[in-house]
Amino acid sequence: MTLVQSFVHYGGHFLVPFAFSWLIWRERWKWSGLAMLAANLIDLDHLLADPIFNPDRCSIGFHLLHGWEAATAYVLMLAIPRWWARAFGLGALWHLAVDGMDCAMHSVALPLA
Ligand SMILES: [Zn+2]
Repeated sequence: MTLVQSFVHYGGHFLVPFAFSWLIWRERWKWSGLAMLAANLIDLDHLLADPIFNPDRCSIGFHLLHGWEAATAYVLMLAIPRWWARAFGLGALWHLAVDGMDCAMHSVALPLA
């Protein structure tokens, strides 16, 4: 992983959720930011995979909680009239977006490595 990729990955997973949170739920941005951070727990589905971590594998569509069925559930969570459910759903969708960007950068960066 290059420095830029690491920055996009970890910044995307841990910092950007708070930016979203501040924009959407300003009066409780810390709590909604934590709910969005909690959505990173969908990475626990990696424990079901073998090997658990493979830097050359794209998570999207491979892991149980990174597939379209799970994404549909996250979208449905946005319809729940509770800020924490919406924050979690949005966080999970954002998580998929960050992982997807990783896959895209990976396939672009690989020929240069
Ligand atoms: Zn992931």
